[in-house]
Amino acid sequence: MYYSEKQKGIKKSIISLAIIFMMLVSMAVVPVEAAVVPAIDFKNVTGEGKDAISLSDKRNFEAVLVTDGSISPDEVVWAMVRKAGAQDEKIFPHKYLGGKLEDWKVWNTQKPYFTNVATEKYSVDGKDALKLSFSTEYFLDVNRVDSPRGNRNVILDHTGDFTLTCSDLSGKILGQATVKVNPYDDYRTHKELEEELLDAKAKADTINGLYIDVLSVGKSTQGYDMPYAVISDSKASVENYHKQNKLAQEDPDAFIKKINSGADYKIPVLYSNIHADENPGVDAPINFIWDIVNSFENGGKITYNILTGFTPEGEKQLKLEMEQQGIHWSELIKDHVTGLGFIKAGNKTSGPVDLEKYYTVESYTLDVNELLDNIIFIVVPSENADGRTNNVRQNGNGFDLNRDNMFQTQIETQNMTKLIAEWNPTTMIELHGFVSGYQVEPCSPPHEPNFEYDLFAENGIKSGEAFGIGAIANNSDFNSYVMALRDYLVSDEKGNPYWQEPWDDMSTNYTPQYSMLHGTVAFTIEVPAANQEATKSLEHGLIHHGAYVMENKDAFYKNQLTGWARGIKNIDEPAIRDWYVDVNDNIGAEAEIFRPKYDGNNNFFPECYIIPLDGKNQSNIEAAYAMQKFLLDNGVKVHSLNKDVTFGGTTYSKGSMVVSMYQAKRNVANGALYDGILITAWPDLYSEPITAFGEMRGFDYTAIDTKGLVKDNMLTEIKVPQTAKTCFTGETGGEVIIDNASVAAIAMVNKMLSDGIKVGFIAEGDYNGDFVVSYGNFMKYQDKFIVKATGVKSIAGAQTIKKPSIYIPGFAGDYSV
Ligand SMILES: [Zn+2]
Repeated sequence: MYYSEKQKGIKKSIISLAIIFMMLVSMAVVPVEAAVVPAIDFKNVTGEGKDAISLSDKRNFEAVLVTDGSISPDEVVWAMVRKAGAQDEKIFPHKYLGGKLEDWKVWNTQKPYFTNVATEKYSVDGKDALKLSFSTEYFLDVNRVDSPRGNRNVILDHTGDFTLTCSDLSGKILGQATVKVNPYDDYRTHKELEEELLDAKAKADTINGLYIDVLSVGKSTQGYDMPYAVISDSKASVENYHKQNKLAQEDPDAFIKKINSGADYKIPVLYSNIHADENPGVDAPINFIWDIVNSFENGGKITYNILTGFTPEGEKQLKLEMEQQGIHWSELIKDHVTGLGFIKAGNKTSGPVDLEKYYTVESYTLDVNELLDNIIFIVVPSENADGRTNNVRQNGNGFDLNRDNMFQTQIETQNMTKLIAEWNPTTMIELHGFVSGYQVEPCSPPHEPNFEYDLFAENGIKSGEAFGIGAIANNSDFNSYVMALRDYLVSDEKGNPYWQEPWDDMSTNYTPQYSMLHGTVAFTIEVPAANQEATKSLEHGLIHHGAYVMENKDAFYKNQLTGWARGIKNIDEPAIRDWYVDVNDNIGAEAEIFRPKYDGNNNFFPECYIIPLDGKNQSNIEAAYAMQKFLLDNGVKVHSLNKDVTFGGTTYSKGSMVVSMYQAKRNVANGALYDGILITAWPDLYSEPITAFGEMRGFDYTAIDTKGLVKDNMLTEIKVPQTAKTCFTGETGGEVIIDNASVAAIAMVNKMLSDGIKVGFIAEGDYNGDFVVSYGNFMKYQDKFIVKATGVKSIAGAQTIKKPSIYIPGFAGDYSV
């Protein structure tokens, strides 16, 4: 809705501007020259691509200017210039303004960017003309704009509209044309991307059986909207899905029965990007939206190539390459993989392969009406609007958002994870770059233990291969891909299987792995390069992934529902244990390490967690309440004790928070709260897998593993996050001891010191390490910081703290661009 209203606002202001402009025109004298500069006819004559300059493609162009016949080719000068950069001057102060054609150079070299430049006499419909021909080189000296990495930032200084001018030797402009310079044809700036989504919606509004809504996930750190599109066959379908989503989480078994008896339903599929300088990952999902919209000009059909099998030559080559590289397909997956798309045919990376030689290549026609009968697409072109605007990896705070999906310290990840918790995508793909082998997931082991991995594996592998097949069969540059779970098990020195490459899914700080806790079949795709072919390949990967999910919708949704049903009954599924292999791929060898069981209930999951919120049992009140908000925002049900209860000698007060493991989103809750595992036998992991919020954020919690101890009649559901308050007990009027057990306590003391208030540090006795201030001073700050504090008449042994001076050498944001 947000975007529709905004669009109306823009239209209104355009109308009022137009009125002002007409008034000005009627008053002003229009200079004669401005109106009569003849237009140059500018064309891309390469045979492919748009009539625009692409920084990552070599192209041939022609520019034709009709003249009066009096000027000869050696009496003109051609230039491509502009008065201002296309981007915000504050972000891109070093914009390139162009110059004569010979002034343009391949970046960081003295090589001319425009080559084969020639002007000749020409004629157009019998009229005299001049024709300029020229070619372009690769602007970064390679056919991509992502490499070398440091050069990604120069791209937007050169992107945007330029004016191609033809002047005589006196400098008089004889003709001009607007020429767009783009990193590759389908590249869009963040602003262009927002406009295009609205254009696609406007076109969809005119098409029967197509519904697009453009919304904002929220604001980014730098205040940009994070736009997303919802694509379905009608608004009613989207509303129905939200009802279905609620019911399915309440009673997943009932919904499975409905599916078995042929119910009509749709599932949500999410496509997104997070590292915004991995550019094709942003543009491909927008192309995908246009493919859907434009298919209706063709009866709702999209036709493309797929690989359906191996030729005899292909069978031989597959076997040969697997042997040469020592690749084993794990016993756990070998029945699910086809290997289609594996063959590199002599390339070290994903490169051109004679697909017809090795595979049966067939044309496939996707019926978009059928697709939208089964799937609702949620497309977030980039979660990182700051990064797209600045063409960098990080958000405006200098954070890598793809290390923050579980921690959720940044507004972008908070917005995105809320969207995931709200929609429960059945499957999702996040598009990244750049891995030269063209990497598709599922990930190699070890796997995060809170996944219902046995439910994920088959659909993950098969839909991963479907993505790969669509991606490589419809472009000329990238005709093979690798899949981590399929291809990274290699022979060690003795010839035994060995998981060499760390491309694991242990960390839930990546968006796909976070969403797997919700039962989503999710993965990351790593495209090899940033250019047009790479963008096209991702686009076709998404299309064929969508087609595969459509054909296997029941299997996908039933598995997600089964995961939730396991949650509601707190089932510890034995079939998961096989997937916890050791580094030599021995099945189930590390199940005890990854999924140890509690003694009390013989289950990897406890019965519930109790997180006290009162000063008696909770030392970090602020963090405990923050945990409550986190769980509610992430779709987890939270309760509180409606009376005091005593378990194992500890009395938990009425109001203490209870997180039951008997709920659909049990895996999300346990993923946040379980205390992690010590991994020693794996040589490397891709990134840090520790969450364990109780330990890492320092609040008190207890995992209860005795069945039946916490009964339903002891619990009241908390639906809205409660407001945290400072907990003060003890005597008033004397001194107050501030429990030094939270960030809030330190922040309170720092603020007091900076306000000139006397603060003591206790270095002995029961309160060793805590702070002390007067009761009067404490009361002035007690509602600004959430702390635990105890009032006493007086306390001995405190030392006055001096206000510290701290040197902070800038912050990451200053160095991030
Ligand atoms: Zn990335």
